[in-house]
Amino acid sequence: AKAHGKNGYTIFRPEMYKDSSEELFLETQLRKAVEQNEFVLHYQPQVNIHTGEMIGLEALIRWDHPEVGMIPPCKFIPLAEKTGLIVSIGEWVLEEACRQNKEWQEKKILPKVKVSVNLSTQQFIKQDLVDVMKETLKKTNLDPHCLEVEITESMAMDFSRAVKVLNEISELGVSISMDDFGKGYSSLSYLKRFPIHSLKIDKSFVNDILVDENDAKIVGTIIAMAHGLGMKVIAEGVENKEQLQYLKEQNCDQVQGYYFMKPLSPYELEANLDQMIRD
Ligand code: C2E
Ligand code: CA
Ligand code: CA
Ligand code: CA
Repeated sequence: AKAHGKNGYTIFRPEMYKDSSEELFLETQLRKAVEQNEFVLHYQPQVNIHTGEMIGLEALIRWDHPEVGMIPPCKFIPLAEKTGLIVSIGEWVLEEACRQNKEWQEKKILPKVKVSVNLSTQQFIKQDLVDVMKETLKKTNLDPHCLEVEITESMAMDFSRAVKVLNEISELGVSISMDDFGKGYSSLSYLKRFPIHSLKIDKSFVNDILVDENDAKIVGTIIAMAHGLGMKVIAEGVENKEQLQYLKEQNCDQVQGYYFMKPLSPYELEANLDQMIRD
């Protein structure tokens, strides 16, 4: 394998998945990253749309590669999924997010907010997921009500097992959010049978609210339907005041997006808390 350094870097292009030797190289790098703990979490606030209060933070992983610098999740999560490395990465994410939230609460840097962790399909189908979550909550001493997991529709492949696992997670006191809603083959029967507390409208819809009348209608309809089913709705990818205004009119509950704050490192987040836009 070739190419190190910031210029002419070719290791992490998506095309490399076609080339097995490059993929093998990335896999070796990724294994090393797991062993040497080269990952970091950034956090993005989730805001109550009516009060402007921060009520949660989504934990988003980045790979802080010693030579390349910060690598976004889209560049390595797919291979991590494919190789199964996502399981140990995901366990680290869970523990680190819980630990960080507990620390912020204890130091009174943050009030009691939820930290949301993205689960991968590989993690979800592993038998010990609920035990791992239980252990992690115990170890970090975080109130289960301050943890949320974000799942996607792809996890419903084994429908009855998914219902069972989600019920167990819910019984721990952990909330469950359906991520990327509307993006895939969303099925209303999932919503009916899963113990889901909130539904996250995918940013592709939010993005087009102001330009595409159909997207605007879909967003309004998703919000009304979710409320009808007793769920809260969070819209992701809110980038401007106009989108926020529309979501408010449609009675959306929570928002997350660059308009409020980009995902930030813990250090940056602490430094920027007082500057968060409250509208
Ligand atoms: P996602 O779960 O849908 O996360 C939302 C993505 O939208 C994040 O990208 C976030 O930085 C970005 N975003 C937030 N606000 C805005 C906005 O206003 N406009 C735009 N255009 N984008 C916004 P990110 O951090 O690059 O993560 C990408 C995806 O990688 C995530 O999508 C999630 O599927 C996956 N991912 C991230 N962290 C983890 C993790 O710890 N575990 C797993 N399994 N997947 C993760
Ligand atoms: Ca998410
Ligand atoms: Ca999304
Ligand atoms: Ca997602």
